[in-house]
Amino acid sequence: MKILVQKFGGTSVSTPERRAVVADKIIAAKESGFSPVVVVSAMGRKNDPYSTDTLLSLAGGALTSLNKRDLDLIMCCGEIISTVVMAQELCSRGFKAMALTGGNAGIITDKAYGSAEIIKVEGEKLIKLLSDGIIPVVAGFQGVTDQGDMATIGRGGSDVTAAVLGGALKAECVEIYTDVDGVMTADPRIVPEAQLIDQITYDVVFQLADEGAKVIHPRAVEYAMRSGVPLVVKNTLSDSAGTMVSSGYQIPSKPLTAITSLKDRTQFTINTENWSFEKDVLTLLSENNISIDLINIFPDKDIFTIDSKDSDKAEEVLRAVSAEYKLLKGCSKVSIHDTSMRGVPGFMAKILKALSDGGIKVLQTADSHSTIWCLVSEKDSDRAVQLLHKAFIK
Ligand code: ADP
Ligand code: MG
Repeated sequence: MKILVQKFGGTSVSTPERRAVVADKIIAAKESGFSPVVVVSAMGRKNDPYSTDTLLSLAGGALTSLNKRDLDLIMCCGEIISTVVMAQELCSRGFKAMALTGGNAGIITDKAYGSAEIIKVEGEKLIKLLSDGIIPVVAGFQGVTDQGDMATIGRGGSDVTAAVLGGALKAECVEIYTDVDGVMTADPRIVPEAQLIDQITYDVVFQLADEGAKVIHPRAVEYAMRSGVPLVVKNTLSDSAGTMVSSGYQIPSKPLTAITSLKDRTQFTINTENWSFEKDVLTLLSENNISIDLINIFPDKDIFTIDSKDSDKAEEVLRAVSAEYKLLKGCSKVSIHDTSMRGVPGFMAKILKALSDGGIKVLQTADSHSTIWCLVSEKDSDRAVQLLHKAFIK
């Protein structure tokens, strides 16, 4: 049996016309000899009736007082609705299909509601359905605990569901269908002339995803890499070949440059000149589970950035030891990824020139052998991405 996992994102299943196109893709796979396993997200985006954001707002929004277990229960509904509607579409075309919750599909998670880890996949049920010629349509973004409670695995989690199923079922390939042609040299909503990357390795796409290219979830890439299942990211609404993701020795190595950005960063500057506490700043923050991103250490100060969601907590920790600090909210981390920058002189100078010619102030930088990060104000973020794309790619 040649298994193909096909995952369709929220916009791909948002209207009857799009669902018909989705059904065409599934049927085409089936007719060319594959046994498709379909994974679907909740329909549409914010304000659409069954989207995850709409369900969240029904439960009181981001600041809901609902307990995490119950919140997960409502958040699971969006994907479940999509499975029934999509299975129905396939049945109405004369195919055998069955809608399944994550739990029905054998996806077992821990109890960390909201960001649960998948601990195992009991694949026999899906294999049985496939051998009976039935197309399983699985709800993404969810699983079930060993107590039988539904749990979600974090935003963007349907990609993870697809990658995990791909590995567990030893699929030939996992196809991630979305609303753009594949992984591109920048977010095409920010840079309309961004180019499609036709082939990329797991580790490079992981970096892009981790630094803000939300076209694929970084954990999905991680799972796929671990099991070695190839991933393809493609557009539901075009016939573009998409982006093939696989390991380094399977694809020709050619230099690749891409720009990403990650908003909602807060920069802290801590005066360490008179720091007289038992523990250093970084230990203090790590003990409070606050993860630090860009960091520069000077004799008299530490400058670092964190995700803005952690900034209240960081302030609490710092205030508790009467630390002297300043913070800058509303920052964005713009990253330029280049697989051949190592040892090339003038790379950083070119970045800084492109940004300063555009009147953009750089607040902090850091670099590794393949990435340079620049912290800028959030209001400059999109323009910084555009300027760097123009300077380095087109
Ligand atoms: P889905 O609902 O299909 O999972 P997402 O919204 O999660 O779709 O991901 C697709 C979006 O990712 C695109 O619409 C695009 O704006 C965004 N995106 C960000 N960075 C990139 C990139 N480098 N290449 C392609 N798309 C990107
Ligand atoms: Mg997504």
